[in-house]
Amino acid sequence: MTLLRIDDLAISFGGITALAGIDLQVEEGEIIAVIGPNGSGKTTLLNCISGVYKPDRGEIFLNGESLLGLSPDFISHCGIARTFQNLRLFLHTTVLDNLLLGRHIKFRKNPIHALLRMRKEELRHREMVEEIIDFLDLQAFRKARVIDCPFGIQKKVELGRALGLEPKLLLLDEPVSGLTMEEKEESAYRIGEIRGRFHATILLVEHDLRIASRLADRMVAFNYGQKIAEGSPEQVQKNPEVIRAYLGEE
Ligand code: ADP
Ligand code: MG
Repeated sequence: MTLLRIDDLAISFGGITALAGIDLQVEEGEIIAVIGPNGSGKTTLLNCISGVYKPDRGEIFLNGESLLGLSPDFISHCGIARTFQNLRLFLHTTVLDNLLLGRHIKFRKNPIHALLRMRKEELRHREMVEEIIDFLDLQAFRKARVIDCPFGIQKKVELGRALGLEPKLLLLDEPVSGLTMEEKEESAYRIGEIRGRFHATILLVEHDLRIASRLADRMVAFNYGQKIAEGSPEQVQKNPEVIRAYLGEE
């Protein structure tokens, strides 16, 4: 079943065409990777899906319902969570509280309702956060302030915050950028485990071709806001236009 469908998506900033008529389908349960050189429109795609940008043209459907015109908050309630290339965490707050806060913001109820159900809900928040801490191997950092954690740990917390929203669709913006080789391997392994453990479909935006092809069932390549290739990771990596786009970047 198609979870996300994008038709003819276009957006420009001044004279710059960031996306030029993108069509894309994401099937439920798959890991799809969007690759491309810097500035090719990858983050802009995530910004359009999550409601941060309003496209000039085109449509975005989640389970057949249009997301256009909905606020980022509402889109998150529809089951889409994302991570940011530049992490969006509460730096002076602990790892544990960052994970809990994410859930409190998403699942807050009206005050009376909240009061009646608080105990049960709070328990559920704690359980879910513990599961994420366990999954991401963050035990040693749970009481540490995010600002005091190494970058690799901060990236994990960013992923954990998004996972805590129990998304149907998880949008990951360059989840391994800035990590050491060893951290990249570990992170890729964990991302591969998310689908089975948290039942999320994943749309991954990644500059690193090697990691993207390792994770993805299907890959799409962007260049200058256009889709230049689509297919299996092997097919896309071998595509001459993709090779040229990446070489042109150096
Ligand atoms: P990528 O994530 O693939 O590196 P982006 O989606 O961030 O690329 O950017 C695609 C193009 O759109 C770039 O030329 C970038 O400068 C431009 N762009 C993206 N967002 C904005 C914005 N808010 N204002 C102006 N230009 C933008
Ligand atoms: Mg980007």
